[in-house]
Amino acid sequence: MHFDVIIAGCGPTGAMLAAELRLHDVRVLVLEKETEPPSYVRIVGLHIRSIELMAMRGLLERILERGRRRPAGAYFAAIDKPAPEGLDSAYAYLLGIPQPVIVHLLEEHAVELGAQIRHGCAVVGFAQDDDGVTVELADGERLRSRYLVGCDGARSTVRKLLGVGFPGEPSRNETLMGEMAVGAPQDEIAAKVSELRETDRRFSLAPAGVGVYRVVVPAAGVSDRAAPPTLEDFRRQLSAVAGTDFGVHSPRWLSRFGDATRLAERYRVGRVLLAGDAAHIHPPIGGQGLNLGVQDAVNLGWKLAAQVRGWAPETLLDTYHAERHPVAEDVLDNTRAQMELLSAEPGPRAVRRLLTELMDFEEVNRHLLEKITAIGIRYDFGAGPDLLGRRLPDIDLKEGRLYGLLRRGRGLLLDRTGRLTVGGWSDRVDHLADPTAALDAPCVLLRPDGHVAWIGDDQRDLDDHLSRWFGRPTT
Ligand SMILES: Cc1cc2nc3c(=O)[nH]c(=O)nc-3n(C[C@H](O)[C@H](O)[C@H](O)COP(=O)(O)OP(=O)(O)OC[C@H]3O[C@@H](n4cnc5c(N)ncnc54)[C@H](O)[C@@H]3O)c2cc1C
Repeated sequence: MHFDVIIAGCGPTGAMLAAELRLHDVRVLVLEKETEPPSYVRIVGLHIRSIELMAMRGLLERILERGRRRPAGAYFAAIDKPAPEGLDSAYAYLLGIPQPVIVHLLEEHAVELGAQIRHGCAVVGFAQDDDGVTVELADGERLRSRYLVGCDGARSTVRKLLGVGFPGEPSRNETLMGEMAVGAPQDEIAAKVSELRETDRRFSLAPAGVGVYRVVVPAAGVSDRAAPPTLEDFRRQLSAVAGTDFGVHSPRWLSRFGDATRLAERYRVGRVLLAGDAAHIHPPIGGQGLNLGVQDAVNLGWKLAAQVRGWAPETLLDTYHAERHPVAEDVLDNTRAQMELLSAEPGPRAVRRLLTELMDFEEVNRHLLEKITAIGIRYDFGAGPDLLGRRLPDIDLKEGRLYGLLRRGRGLLLDRTGRLTVGGWSDRVDHLADPTAALDAPCVLLRPDGHVAWIGDDQRDLDDHLSRWFGRPTT
């Protein structure tokens, strides 16, 4: 076996997963079919939980150098409301960054940690047996690994070959997006845009550099998305929607996206797993797809590493589907709801007005924001205090910030009593005795993804939970 894990696809999900696996010395190879980054640029927003994860892995500084911090408001169906006050996070903002930049930074991080990445290598087939997976590349080369993860995007070859169902709704609306020069005067554009956006929120023209505008306009219908749109398509649609094509010319890039909404029935079949867009697709409203994929990767990474390294409890790898499938289901649902709220029909517009009023209630606003930013996620670890299953914010500790202690992707026992021990799990779990920790509990056991796996003060109970999440002790 040359590799422990082969990852198909080096988008944000694949690159993040590779880095997470390397934290545990897993031999990982990423196969990416493209040789160059895509020509189009999506400016994506990293939401609070993803920003926290970047801080947790020591990546935030370099991302902040290339991105823009923006207020966390107007996050739900673009309803113009500020974020609620006093959010429980040290990173309560939205981080806007071009997708190719974040992919480059994640890839760089994975390589620094020792991942191998091969570009221009498309996975076209695989076969799994009891010991591993044989992966076939487009040029006929065959590679062997113990596990394969499909991070190969919405049209995932891995998912299709796996025969996993991908139920949901096909695209019903398509949107054209591109960057191009515009002949019309700036004030004319601004007036038209503000008039049209009163009723059609799928339309926008915004400056994207000197003399260049980012144009977003509904397409005429649903087409074969493999074919990029033409400038003529933009001219026609702008004229149809705005009554003028604004004299657009000299495009930098042109693309389209749809609103198909689908969720893989299973995230794992034997030694093959799915993550990111390969497992779930939905419209980009609320900017959640990349965030969801990166968070899948952080949930899966340490579990797959534990499996490879031989210390995983029997059911650990299956908790990946059990935890992440419902999260994606919830994201799909909130995007369905948001898309309805963008409709220009009188019914949805009335619901939008009502929701706009409801969001003045602090609790409603907070609930929606915690959903979109993923800080509200609570995995089902069984009965227990509200904190159980939730992520812990980056609190102050006597040795600095909490997230600084989670860089290596290990478990952590935060012990305010100073009398507990991680004993035979000390090769996988760190122990910090800190009576100053701002915790609403005597002791907390954190998983490598920062979620609370146990709360209490009893050593025997702690040992049971260490076994549950980290397998047998070494001694
Ligand atoms: C207009 C728009 C705006 C968006 N804005 C946001 C936003 O603000 N926030 C957000 O979180 N998300 C946003 N998204 C969604 C986000 O872009 C995707 O969810 C994200 O790219 C998914 O990452 P991924 O790594 O799972 O898949 P991808 O980014 O699709 O990466 C998959 C990779 O696999 C490669 N590949 C495919 N097939 C193979 C194969 N057979 N072998 C090897 N490699 C293969 C591909 O070349 C690609 O590099 C937006 C999407 C759109 C369309």
